[in-house]
Amino acid sequence: MTYHGECACGAVSATIEAEPVTVRQCWCSDCQRISGGGATHNAIFPASAVTLSGQLASHGHQAASGNTLTKYFCPTCGTPVFATSSARLQFRTFRLGFLDAGHGLKPSAAIWTDSAPDWAVIDPALEHFAGQPPAPAIPQD
Ligand SMILES: [Zn+2]
Ligand SMILES: [Zn+2]
Repeated sequence: MTYHGECACGAVSATIEAEPVTVRQCWCSDCQRISGGGATHNAIFPASAVTLSGQLASHGHQAASGNTLTKYFCPTCGTPVFATSSARLQFRTFRLGFLDAGHGLKPSAAIWTDSAPDWAVIDPALEHFAGQPPAPAIPQD
């Protein structure tokens, strides 16, 4: 399966030639900030499967874990594209909203649920993690 996505202004696009290792929604306070108040929805792909085009801007900060989280976005329209963790540089965490409609991906887990606002409605069918879940398995290639 090949996934494609682009930002709101079209300056940044990506082609991803792999299935995600996991798809989850994240309710951490950082994600609430960049999403505008709710969860982010993320598909984690092997970095080796990603081809990007266009100029990205980024912002990194040190998370509570001590790892550096870097968020990449379009400097023109501000669309979030993906994020990386210094602890897992073999992955790119793409925002589901960046991918073209019809991608068919959906979250299987909700993480950092303890940080969700009390009005949040979290699907009980998802696997719930109060905080950070274990890292996804490293793909064999
Ligand atoms: Zn853009
Ligand atoms: Zn988060």
